[in-house]
Amino acid sequence: MRTLQVDLGERSYPIHIGSGLLSRPELFTPHIAGRQVAIVTNETVAPLYLERLSNTLQGYSVLPVILPDGEAHKNWETLQLIFDALLTARHDRRTTVIALGGGVIGDMAGFAAACYQRGVDFIQVPTTLLSQVDSSVGGKTGINHPLGKNMVGAFYQPKAVIIDTDTLGTLPPRELSAGLAEVIKYGLICDKPFLPWLSSQMSALRGLDAVALTEAIERSCAAKARVVGVDERESGLRAILNLGHTFGHAIETHQGYGVWLHGEAVGAGTVMALEMSRRLGWISVAERDDAIRLLRRAGLPVVPPVEMAPEHFLEHMAVDKKVLDGQLRLVLLRQIGEAVVTAEFPREVLDATLSTDYR
Ligand code: NAD
Ligand code: MG
Repeated sequence: MRTLQVDLGERSYPIHIGSGLLSRPELFTPHIAGRQVAIVTNETVAPLYLERLSNTLQGYSVLPVILPDGEAHKNWETLQLIFDALLTARHDRRTTVIALGGGVIGDMAGFAAACYQRGVDFIQVPTTLLSQVDSSVGGKTGINHPLGKNMVGAFYQPKAVIIDTDTLGTLPPRELSAGLAEVIKYGLICDKPFLPWLSSQMSALRGLDAVALTEAIERSCAAKARVVGVDERESGLRAILNLGHTFGHAIETHQGYGVWLHGEAVGAGTVMALEMSRRLGWISVAERDDAIRLLRRAGLPVVPPVEMAPEHFLEHMAVDKKVLDGQLRLVLLRQIGEAVVTAEFPREVLDATLSTDYR
């Protein structure tokens, strides 16, 4: 097991990473103040891991809260089910909410914990690679609104994040690859030596080797924790975590949510950010191609949807052509391992990037 600490003053917390952690009560008990625990999970994850975690928490009064699965349920109605369950079972302010699932469950359970009786303790047990390396760290919680994703929420830090790499054994391979997009992102934005390591370990990672996964998750969480430690509420540096995401969001929106997984869109979006950085003369052709090869070996798409024209991207990047100059900020690579957020690029370079044939 590896442990790292997220330093946020009195809101600091540990992240434990390793195989078999769901079965280790001593990792949970220091973070549970009362006798009541609510495990928030969903219909997919519950049959796989709820019993294992419940057995680990013997001696506590454990309330399972099983929600429907999917991004479409990350809303008020489902949030209300959590409050209904807590109130019906008379959970008081000393209860602890445990999120057992992917990012959807983590975001919703975290927001419920932030709101229930003005805030109760919260533990993250992320079970997708994406939630292990990204959403469980950093304290963003929330739900979607019909008018926008993640539009209602709170910054709320967990007491601990407990990552059992064994849970990835049941994750669909596409979801694993989607998580790897964010892992590779950390190397590109702030940890250059991570990239050759990832290249050498890619088969092991996709083969679910626990040692390789633990190392990759630890380095990813460390990178995110560093960035979030500097900029907890996203006033500046935190934006570099969005490498590939502006192009990626355009792909997600154009295709309709759910057609491409978020990580898949980020994969192709990262290729576009690499291409644009190369056109600006900041990285070389060889560096761009090495990174693209790594994304491809992670099982990710490296070509944006062929039917997407530059106008589609501009439309979904929420920029009117007239106001584009000086308005659109992109995360680009000043060099491999160093991201910058900038609005200062020639318009022609963006146009050329959007018109590139990536096939
Ligand atoms: P997800 O939570 O929808 O999980 C993907 C699928 O895998 C779901 O069907 C889920 O039930 C299933 N699943 C989860 N664990 C499993 C396991 N061990 N075995 C088999 N199936 C399993 O998706 P995600 O990619 O984990 O998270 C995406 C969400 O995270 C989005 O809502 C996004 O907005 C959010 N997010 C939040 C942050 C943040 O900082 N808070 C960052 C990134 C993403
Ligand atoms: Mg992302």
